[in-house]
Amino acid sequence: MYQHVQAYAGDPILSLVETFQQDPRPNKISLAIGIYFDNDGKMPLPASVLAAEQQIGFGVKSYLPMEGHAGFRAEVAKLILGADNAALAQNRVAAVQTLGGSGALKLGADFIHRWFPQAKVYVSDPTWDNHRGIFEGAGFEVGTYPYYDAQTIGVKFDEMCDFFRRQPENTVVLLHPCCHNPTGVDLSAEQWDTVLNIVAERKLIPFMDIAYQGFGDTFESDAYAIRKAVALNLPLFASCSFSKNMSQYGQRVGALLVLAPTPEEAQLVLGQMKFSVRRIYSSPPAQGGLTAYHVLSNPELAAQWQAEVYEMRDRIRAMRQKLYDVLSARLPERDFSYFIKQRGMFSYTGLTVEQVHRLRDEFAIYVLDSGRLCVAGLNDGNIDMVADAMAAVFAA
Ligand code: PMP
Repeated sequence: MYQHVQAYAGDPILSLVETFQQDPRPNKISLAIGIYFDNDGKMPLPASVLAAEQQIGFGVKSYLPMEGHAGFRAEVAKLILGADNAALAQNRVAAVQTLGGSGALKLGADFIHRWFPQAKVYVSDPTWDNHRGIFEGAGFEVGTYPYYDAQTIGVKFDEMCDFFRRQPENTVVLLHPCCHNPTGVDLSAEQWDTVLNIVAERKLIPFMDIAYQGFGDTFESDAYAIRKAVALNLPLFASCSFSKNMSQYGQRVGALLVLAPTPEEAQLVLGQMKFSVRRIYSSPPAQGGLTAYHVLSNPELAAQWQAEVYEMRDRIRAMRQKLYDVLSARLPERDFSYFIKQRGMFSYTGLTVEQVHRLRDEFAIYVLDSGRLCVAGLNDGNIDMVADAMAAVFAA
């Protein structure tokens, strides 16, 4: 019956996690998956989020509307766009609660493909693997735009701008407003201004995926590119996720925001989003959405939560600094300053695939073949081992 069905090769990151789990070596360290761990190597639940969960309780929850919880949708729009954003007062933002950031990407991708079927999508080279997967799954041809420069461990900024200048109207460009996954290499505010002016001139469609708000710098500055896109009145799509910054991984909490030229068009977009949702999964999960709503709508909990996210951010920064200090002391002829310039949970380490395999085979340290390391998996208990092993493979 199913012999003609193609075998699934598996997801590269999740397969590596399985290999790690089967590794019998007691000192093994996984820095492969994108999860925030605390200094004890545990997945923390922020106290503000726990307080919200306790307020809500675990009693029966009815269905949410197709577009999700109204309060949640309003709070997320304020968090991402800024509470005083004129586009909100003008009712020009369609907001939908989604199944995590992935669900927001999928809903947005399906919408664009249906209503702009000629559009092509470009993602950064490299990007989170599933960006390509989700947009191809929606029927798009997906290409890449120049982004990461392995020579400088920075951005190929001029090439990126030149590429954008050559694209036809309604080309979708998928952008990471902060904490670029997988490289950790972000654009500065000035660079965003330049890029978004090109996006405006060329009439491109910016799709901004923000999965790590608060991990880069502040909640406001991490959303700089999104707010600038709104100020320029671009046809913005913004997908966001509370998987990492509220530890809602398994609860599937995210949102899609779409900026429309008029309130009437925002309603049209929202209507099609509801239609899509109804035909795929009918309504989003209630527990996580309610939790996030309680955190965001209660000023005390919201302030506590933001402070807790900044603690996570600062712990990641401290680990970056430690890595930089040890590696610079061990290999003084090499410039490791990129470790402290990069932002967010991930770092492109500059390790080659051979060096990555040596780390895995000789030291039981798991990072992705691309050299991506999850800095949030480092802690006081493992950082010395990781830094020593990295120094050894870099030195060879
Ligand atoms: N976008 C990016 C850049 C991500 O890193 C992730 C999660 N790894 C997602 C979207 C998906 O988020 P979620 O897990 O909430 O679906």
